[in-house]
Amino acid sequence: MKHEELLHRCFRCGWCKLPVNFMDINCPSYLKYRFETYSPGGRLWLLRAWLTGDLDASDRFKEVLFSCATCKNCVEACGIPGIKDHLVDMIIAAREEIVNTGKLPPSIRNYLTEIYNRGNPFKKPQSERGDWAKGLDVPVYNGQEYLFYAGDVGSFDESGIKMTRAVASLFLNAGISFGILGENETSDGNDVNALGEKALSEHLAVNNIDQFTKRGIARIITLSPHAFNAMKNAYPLLGGKFEVYHYTQMLNKIIKDKLPLGSFKARVTYHDPCYLGRWNGVYLEPRNILQSVPGLDYMEMGRNMNSALCCGGGGGNYFSDMLGSGQDSSARRRVREAEEYGAEVVAVACPICKKMLEDAVKDEGLENQMRVMDVAQIVIEAKRKQA
Ligand code: SF4
Ligand code: SF4
Repeated sequence: MKHEELLHRCFRCGWCKLPVNFMDINCPSYLKYRFETYSPGGRLWLLRAWLTGDLDASDRFKEVLFSCATCKNCVEACGIPGIKDHLVDMIIAAREEIVNTGKLPPSIRNYLTEIYNRGNPFKKPQSERGDWAKGLDVPVYNGQEYLFYAGDVGSFDESGIKMTRAVASLFLNAGISFGILGENETSDGNDVNALGEKALSEHLAVNNIDQFTKRGIARIITLSPHAFNAMKNAYPLLGGKFEVYHYTQMLNKIIKDKLPLGSFKARVTYHDPCYLGRWNGVYLEPRNILQSVPGLDYMEMGRNMNSALCCGGGGGNYFSDMLGSGQDSSARRRVREAEEYGAEVVAVACPICKKMLEDAVKDEGLENQMRVMDVAQIVIEAKRKQA
């Protein structure tokens, strides 16, 4: 297994599962299950026992391995050289070994099979992939300055579609030159890679790189931080070098000059998506956008930026549901945290975070006092007040 030689350096101090105040839990899977094997360090020790042959790759072992949300919160806390740099890489490398045995938990096998067969995990035909744009006058890519990449969740999930339409509407309004691929768009491969299906993720990446190159695409704006991560960090290793932006980076550039705003009066906090924040260091742009909106009362939760609690949907968990729901799910804990700080709106910048937190708000019975809104939807509401 890749990075196997580093495993012994973890001495199970347990810091990786705790935030700096030691009062709560950082790791979504440990938060949910409260067994040491579901913690970052515990998981590494489990891997070690598996590699030395002391433990079989049982169903429970796979449940532990695949319930990591690849959120990298543990990486922020671990101080051990080697371990810190490759903690999540080791978990993904172990998943790759399990993928190669062909014996996967059913929900993961189904997700990967759908992606392989249809190019998306929603069991929908590719011909419907561009339907999110109906009625919006969004052009198909034909040499514009930017490709706007909607991704699987932004193209097929009801809540994700609202977010994609909000972002596209703002870009149209601001006169950004962009187009979409519609039915020719395919999965970005980020979560496929996080689940350890390296061959399929590379296949998807190479296909996307070929298509982008043939169409002369040089600049890409992604809806999802997951696609942003794949295209920014994984595609260059396979020869695909594009200028890649997350939509909040583009929105931040144009908000002052091209989008006159009215007001949005609410107490708003921002939930950092792991693949935008910890994975790629984009923390300020979404905050700048929110703080540019007149009337918006911005506040931070105690755990923010590189210590923000994950929504639990990363690492393929949004699709596989290996983490499951319940009161101790990290999405529900995050929503309770927002409530503790008096937030009326939780702003998000990822379609997966959006759906995870929307469901958590319902499960917590907070629908009457808290909304989950994408950053672009907040900007649109403020624009309406201006009109
Ligand atoms: S991963 Fe790092 S912080 Fe966690 S138990 Fe191991 S050495 Fe300690
Ligand atoms: S990446 Fe996140 S979910 Fe995975 S072990 Fe680390 S803290 Fe836990």
